[in-house]
Order: sequence, then structure tokens, then C-alpha cells
Amino acid sequence: MNILEVSSREASFQEAAVSRPPEVSGAVAGRRYASELPRRPAWVEIDLRQLERNFRIISRDKPGDLRILSVVKDEAYGHGAECVAKTALQCGAQLLGLSTLEEALALREKGITARILLLGDRQESEFPWCIARNLTCCVSDAQGVEQLGRCAARAGRRVPVHVKINTGMNRYGVRWSEALPLVEQVCETKSLVLEGVLSHFAQSDEVDKASALLQLARFNEVLHGLAARGVPVKARHICNSGGFLDLPRAHFDVVRLGILPLGVYPSAVCRRLPGLAPVMTVKARVAAIQCLQAGDSVGYGMHYTAPGPRRIAVLPLGYGDGFPRVRNQGWALLHGRRAPLVGGVAMDALTVDISAIPEARLWDEAVLMGRQGSEEISARDIAKLKNSVCYDVLTSWRARLPRVYLNEKSAG
Ligand SMILES: *Cc1c(COP(=O)(O)O)cnc(C)c1O
Repeated sequence: MNILEVSSREASFQEAAVSRPPEVSGAVAGRRYASELPRRPAWVEIDLRQLERNFRIISRDKPGDLRILSVVKDEAYGHGAECVAKTALQCGAQLLGLSTLEEALALREKGITARILLLGDRQESEFPWCIARNLTCCVSDAQGVEQLGRCAARAGRRVPVHVKINTGMNRYGVRWSEALPLVEQVCETKSLVLEGVLSHFAQSDEVDKASALLQLARFNEVLHGLAARGVPVKARHICNSGGFLDLPRAHFDVVRLGILPLGVYPSAVCRRLPGLAPVMTVKARVAAIQCLQAGDSVGYGMHYTAPGPRRIAVLPLGYGDGFPRVRNQGWALLHGRRAPLVGGVAMDALTVDISAIPEARLWDEAVLMGRQGSEEISARDIAKLKNSVCYDVLTSWRARLPRVYLNEKSAG
């Protein structure tokens, strides 16, 4: 599909590029003319309609009163935090989750006023910023409660806080067996309001749920302790995407979903939601075609030698864009067929064998990740190439690949 047909914003980019000569000058060039420059022939497409569809599928699947916290950290796993956050909120998500203060401030700058929960622990110096910009923090220890409490008091505010419980992940959080005194400390701090209690699964998406169930039992122990003391907690949450899919007993009040709304499953074995599909596609156009003779090699290191006449397409994207630095492994899709990668992946280019696709031409569109015709290269396929997981693949596509948003709603 030609993207000019589906994105009016793209069409206007192209017109601008054609009707006006580029006046690229000095430091302003990248910023000022970015939208008018001809787009690089390698890019990432984000289908906002599919994203919306995924959120609707998730909403239909979940119990009506279960709230969604949309995790949009690391640019929503490379999809663009602003667009994903806005779509999530339009589709009924009530909270957003981020990792860093900078990420949260960037969304506030974009006018997003929804409740934002910063996952992980904060340095004391970050608390004043969080309070000023209404960013909700997690606390894991007495010192954190004291510092946040003091900052809030100084600002003349009462701020909501979520207490993080370590039930077995052993990263952030107060050990479950020591959680009650910390919650009591929060309740006794006048400038703080206990809003949430959370934990995080170390393994929720595998067939064996033993460790997740142990974590859940520990979390329940804390919650029962709080209930027995008459401490009300509005937002109890422990589920990520895997927990949401496979552990309905662990849903509580809120689930924190990052990867699932993007149409990618946290693992190969977790429950499937019919209709859910990936939001991201990575594409490039054929930038050169070489006809090799037997004995010719391709690229750095001469890792591929043609056994006979071969037609090779060069795609202008490489490990500098986040494609794994593999050799003689992987594929691109061209004309709905798999073209095997030959030779090594360079920083800015990779090469595929198109001998079996004679109709392939210069500047044809190739898919590096995603669907073309009836073929698909999944994030999982690429994860296998780099011996990693889909999360890593999604977040690895570098910022120099332009993001093209399909089916964008009118501004706002
Ligand atoms: C990243 C993250 C999530 C989201 O996990 P997914 O598997 O992408 O749904 C949830 N909770 C915490 C604390 C996280 O850091």
C-alpha cells in the first residue's frame, strides 16, 4: 500500500517538498524544515486505528470496573508516547505510566493532564518537580516517604502516593513482610494521601505460574493486613500485560498495560485476544539493485558469496537504525514474499536476495517488520535474530527512523 493514499499529512509533506526548493541552512535546518524535507526511504509506520482497535478489544475483554494504566515509557516502546497516550486516554485508559521525570514532563508540555504514575523510585531532587507537575510517585522506603512528605508540605500540598511492594522481583519496593509500617508512615504523613499499593510480577507470561502465584499471595497478605487495619486503598495493582491476560485473580483495581495495546504479546504462550494486531511496521524502499555473478561477495567482511547469478536489493537501513547486526539471517518482505538477508547488516544498509522476486524494482517498498500481503515478519522473529524479546525489538528502532502516523485523527 502506498502511504500517500492513507495519510493526508504525508501527502502535504510531499507537496511541500515538490513545490518549494529546500532552503536548508545552518542549525535550524533539521528542526524548521523537518516536515518539508523529503522523507528518508526507511521509516516506521504507526497505525493509530489499529492501536484504537487494540484498546477496544482489551476493553471488551476486561471486567467493566477494571481501570487501565497505559504504560507509555520509552516513547511507548518506540511508538511515540504522545500519540499512544492520547489514543489510550480516548479509549478509556485512566492513568499513564512512565519511567523518567523527563518523559513525564515532555507529556505535560504536550498538554496531557491525565494522572501520570512514575514507575520506579525517585531521587529526592526530583520530588519538587513531580509535585509541581502533578506526577504521582511510588515510594519504597521510609526515607522516600519522609522526603516526598516534606516536599509536599513545603509546597503546601497533599499529594497522592503509591506504595511499592517487593513481592519477589527484588528490584524496587519494600519487602512484603515489612510493608505495613511503611503504609502506616504514609497514612501518618499529613501532606501525603495513600492512593495506591502496587507490586510487579517477575514472570507472569510463562506457562508455569508458580512464581507469579507466590508473588500474588504475598501481595494479598499485605492487602489483607491493610484491610484488617481499616486502611482504604483505591488503586491496588500488580498486573502487567501478562498478568492481565493470564491471571484474572490478580486484576484488583488497575492493570498496567504496555506491550499489549501495541498488538504484541508479552510471550509466545500467554492467552490471545482475537483481532489484536501489531501497530508498528518498519519499512524501507529498495535503494539499489545489484546483479551478482558466481563468486561475487556482498558487503563488509565478504560473508556472503554468490553461488551463481543473484539479484540483490540494497535497503537503506541498518544496525544504526536498530536492525540486529546479523549476517546471512533474517528477511525482508517484497511483493508479499520473503527475501532472505545476505551478507552482513551494516550501519546504514542491509542486502537481501531478490533472485526469486523478478518483479522487484528500484524504490519498491519492503517491510522489515510487519505484514505485507499474506506474509509477516513479527517482532518475535526479529527478537530471535538478536536472542532477545519483543520489548527490546520494539524499543530498539532508533529515533533517526522517521515515525509516520497513519489514520491520525484531526488535531487535538
Ligand atoms: C513496563 C512496566 C509495565 C508494563 O509491562 P507490559 O508487559 O509491557 O504490559 C507494567 N508495570 C511496570 C512496573 C513496568 O515497569
